[in-house]
This record gives sequence, structure tokens and C-alpha cells, in this order.
Amino acid sequence: MYDLHTHTVFSDGTTTPEDNAALAAAAGLDGVALTDHDTLDGWERMAAACEAAGVEFVPGVELSAEADGRSVHVLGYWVDPADPALRAECVRLRAERERRGRVMVERLAAHGTGVTWDEVAVIAGPAPVGRPHLASALVARGAARDIEHAFTRWLAEDGPVHEPKRALAPAAAVRLVVEAGGAAVLAHPASTFPGPALPDALLDELRACGLRGLEADHPAHDEASTRRWRDAAASRGLLVTGASDFHGGRKAVRIGTRTTPDGVVALLREASRGGARW
Ligand code: AMP
Ligand code: ZN
Ligand code: FE
Ligand code: FE
Repeated sequence: MYDLHTHTVFSDGTTTPEDNAALAAAAGLDGVALTDHDTLDGWERMAAACEAAGVEFVPGVELSAEADGRSVHVLGYWVDPADPALRAECVRLRAERERRGRVMVERLAAHGTGVTWDEVAVIAGPAPVGRPHLASALVARGAARDIEHAFTRWLAEDGPVHEPKRALAPAAAVRLVVEAGGAAVLAHPASTFPGPALPDALLDELRACGLRGLEADHPAHDEASTRRWRDAAASRGLLVTGASDFHGGRKAVRIGTRTTPDGVVALLREASRGGARW
């Protein structure tokens, strides 16, 4: 079994690539993906750490996209790390994340939280800045009890300081992954599109752009929505993946709490150009 969605300090997780590899080995997994937000910077260390730990490394990225003001995440596995268009979008998103991070920090300061950009930059370290870094700064300042409270009180999309990212349409993000030789999977669809109405037109469009799978099995999905998105995948010939979306101490899930069977990973690998090299 594989855990196909984990984060490290190279985005908004709190663990290192070495930690993730060791945790995957301890959980008895055959393989683990690194899918940091909008960056491939952790790949080299994760590849070496996985080799040392005796687990297979699945190189990945979780690309930010946007549809009707809603944040949509597209997972790309075995993309070519040298692909110029993908690299350019990661560079653009890093700058865009800094822009919107600074806007949110200004609003938080105006609300008297005391949070400064310098504090956030230290917490983010090498990562493209994300709301979880702001959440940690809010907790450190005592302006929120914990990460979850920082989101409900301040950072949620309908919260008092939220500033959206300017990001690609989901179809463009899928095309970017496919053109970089990767296998594209829609991350946590039930938490992105809650409720009974499936965005059929969007799903069909993504499939036409080369989407290969839906991450129906995710810790944020309840049983009913997991089933609904499994059915949505089955009726379109899409693969179903499962993953923890591990963020270290920022979320209460462990590596390996949701997994993807070897056969599904093999089909995803075959759908990519880069899979054979890793
Ligand atoms: P961003 O990409 O900067 O918009 O931040 C999105 C990230 O924030 C997601 O990948 C989640 O890891 C995290 N996140 C979103 N909502 C919550 C929440 N309610 N509680 C904890 N983490 C959250
Ligand atoms: Zn995240
Ligand atoms: Fe996500
Ligand atoms: Fe994630």
C-alpha cells in the first residue's frame, strides 16, 4: 500500500522529508508520495530518505488552482521536474502566495493580533507561504487557541482576513501536470465540492484534459461522500486514490491512515512519462 499525499516543511507541514520516509516505513507502507504545495524543493531529500528507509518514493506536487472563487487542488505524480511551464507556475505561485500572505498579515495587524510578516516568514522557512504558517503565528501570539481555531476565527475563506490566491483554472492545472509528463489526480474532492450536487461539467472537463483519478478516500471525507466520489470515479473510468494528506503537527492525521493499493499506483505510473525513471 501507498500513502499518496504528504507534506513537509518544504510547504505547510511540520516534518522533514526524512521524518516522512521514516514514518512511512514504520507504518509498513510500500511507498509514500511527497506532494508539497506548489513546489518540488523537497524531492531530492525525500528520494534519498526513502531509499535509506526502504520505501518507494513517489515524487509529486499539489498544485493550487481556483474555480468560481473556490480553491481546487490538483495532485501531479512523476512530473518532469525540469518542465519549464511547471517550474514557471511554481515560481509564480510562490510570489503570489507572498503577495496574499502579506495582505492577510496587514489585515490581521489591523485587527490587533500583533502578527508581523517577519514572524510568518521565519515560520514558513523555505516554503511558499500558506495560511497554516499564518495560523501558527496566530497561535504563537495567543490570537488563536490552536490551528483549527485560527482558521475558524481568522483564515477561513469566509473569515475576516482571507485573501484568495490568483491561480489557474483546474483544467489548466491538469493540463500543466499532463504536459509535464505527470499523472493528474483531483485532491480531496469531497471537501472541495461538498454537498450532494457533483460538479459534473467540471469533472468531465478535467477528464477530457487528462485527469486520471479522484482522491475519494481522504481523512476530511465522511463515509457518504467517500462513496459518492468513488461512484463518480467509477462511472467515468477514473482511478480512486486514498491518502492521509499528512501535515505533521498541523493536522491530527498520521501517515498511512488512508492508502492506495499497489495496482492503482501501477496504473497511475503507467499513465505518466516520468514513472519509469523513479
Ligand atoms: P492555502 O494554500 O494557503 O490557502 O492554505 C490551504 C491549506 O490550509 C490546506 O492545504 C490545509 O492544509 C490547510 N487548511 C485549510 N483549512 C483548514 C482548517 N479548517 N484547519 C486546518 N487546516 C486547514
Ligand atoms: Zn497543506
Ligand atoms: Fe489540499
Ligand atoms: Fe495537501
